[in-house]
Amino acid sequence: MADHLAKEGTLSQSYIDINPATVKLNAYYTWDLPKELNKDNVHPLVIDHNIRHAIADITNFQTFHKFLAHYRIEDIRKATFKNAIDWKWTKEWFNHNPVDNLPTSRKLTKFRAWQMKNCANSLPTMDILHKYNPDLFSTVLLCWHCQLEKETNQHLWLCPTILKKIKPQFKQLTLRFIALVHSSADTLQVDISNTFRTNPIFSWSFRSSDRFLPSSTDHVFYLTCRGFCTNVFTAIFTKFFSAKIRRLSNKLLLQIFSELTIFLKQHIWKPRNLLFKRWKLERNITTKLLRSRITKNSSRKRKRMGDATNLSNNPSTSSHHTSSRSRALIQSHRHLYSSLHRFIFFI
Ligand SMILES: [Zn+2]
Repeated sequence: MADHLAKEGTLSQSYIDINPATVKLNAYYTWDLPKELNKDNVHPLVIDHNIRHAIADITNFQTFHKFLAHYRIEDIRKATFKNAIDWKWTKEWFNHNPVDNLPTSRKLTKFRAWQMKNCANSLPTMDILHKYNPDLFSTVLLCWHCQLEKETNQHLWLCPTILKKIKPQFKQLTLRFIALVHSSADTLQVDISNTFRTNPIFSWSFRSSDRFLPSSTDHVFYLTCRGFCTNVFTAIFTKFFSAKIRRLSNKLLLQIFSELTIFLKQHIWKPRNLLFKRWKLERNITTKLLRSRITKNSSRKRKRMGDATNLSNNPSTSSHHTSSRSRALIQSHRHLYSSLHRFIFFI
């Protein structure tokens, strides 16, 4: 047994750092190796003599792995392996209230729901709506902005038509951020403007050519749209603020990220939503109607399924397939949200 474990250990990709000067034992994620990244961003699992803390860390890491393993967020898993996401600040952001000063409110609940759907790749874009209501939405599968490509959660944030349209406003917003950082930073003031202009989240808005628009799901702009704080974003604040004013810089980081998120939501998601709502209004498609259709469909399917089973003793009818597929879809979304919720809000 011991031989077997030792052999497995030599082949393992994991990194264990034993420091004989202390009792701490640091184990790292396979993608989080100290050799591969800067020391500031290494988040080791510390096994020390406070067993409660060590067990809590292990459980939290398991929750994190479970969350990342979900098939709907494969792009986020890949970005994590490349160490593009700053998870510490992503969690801070998820616990930050950007809409009002109240601990709970209808507005905040609405925003949190949108935030969770967005980061889980589950905003109700036409591809998802079509899965639930194939007959109603089969003629409107294309992106509301460009009318050229199918609308998915990925295309929504990378549609070249809308990115071109918001480019001047996004540039203005970036200039505002530069001024904000300028007024509070306490080091290297001269470099602030250049850092923003060359940062991939913002740089495309300063280029006259549209060749530089963000176009892939591993782009940091796309990850920002999805609500994840990236390391290239948080690095701005470690660069221009000394540890003495860390509290101020942390506050500013969340303020800028909030403004950025709200801008993207207002300028990309909202206009698309208005167009879709107008389309529904013209056809008298209301939320109430959609809900009643789903309930009717599922009860009809249940009945049909029962009849089919009784008559032919053959449960594999197409209705069975559809209803079990949508059940599986809902179940998988629930599973993702619960692991996301556990991971984001309870660590
Ligand atoms: Zn488009």
